[in-house]
Amino acid sequence: MYTYYISVGSNMGDKKGHIHSAFQSLQEHEAVSKVISSKLIETEPWGYTEQDTFVNGMWFCVSTLDPHQMLDLIQFLEKEAGRERLIHWGPRTLDLDIILAYDSHGAMLSLSDAKLVVPHPLFWERTFVLEPLYELFPTFTYKGMTINERLAQLSE
Ligand code: ADP
Ligand code: MG
Repeated sequence: MYTYYISVGSNMGDKKGHIHSAFQSLQEHEAVSKVISSKLIETEPWGYTEQDTFVNGMWFCVSTLDPHQMLDLIQFLEKEAGRERLIHWGPRTLDLDIILAYDSHGAMLSLSDAKLVVPHPLFWERTFVLEPLYELFPTFTYKGMTINERLAQLSE
């Protein structure tokens, strides 16, 4: 059994609709349980900035799928939302990223291969990831810092 924090973002078409449909598919998946979503927030684009605002949020779930199987599942959900990979960090109907993964003993997993890097390499830099993560996991600390301390540092 694994637990996951998955960030979700959309900035094309019916943004909240794409997110809600994917959330429902995840909830209905036989290998996934206890799916919880943070509030959805509206954020400015990051990286490639000539694009529409994003809706971002965070999902928590418990699953028997291992991290690579979970990556396959979220990529399937992105495809279901009609995502095409056109511009890196560009407009997308749905972007799902595995931010944190834990094993059944509650140990945080660190993985890095050609397909998957966990914890997500940029999560600690992004307020649109940290704000919804804080809602679901207020006691999380990383590199000796709480999420609130990191958010204060990023807003300096
Ligand atoms: P980005 O999320 O950076 O905007 P993409 O969603 O297009 O870019 O992802 C590109 C690739 O990133 C995926 O094909 C996947 O193999 C890889 N990847 C590496 N680590 C992760 C992760 N933690 N979560 C999701 N995808 C990841
Ligand atoms: Mg992604």
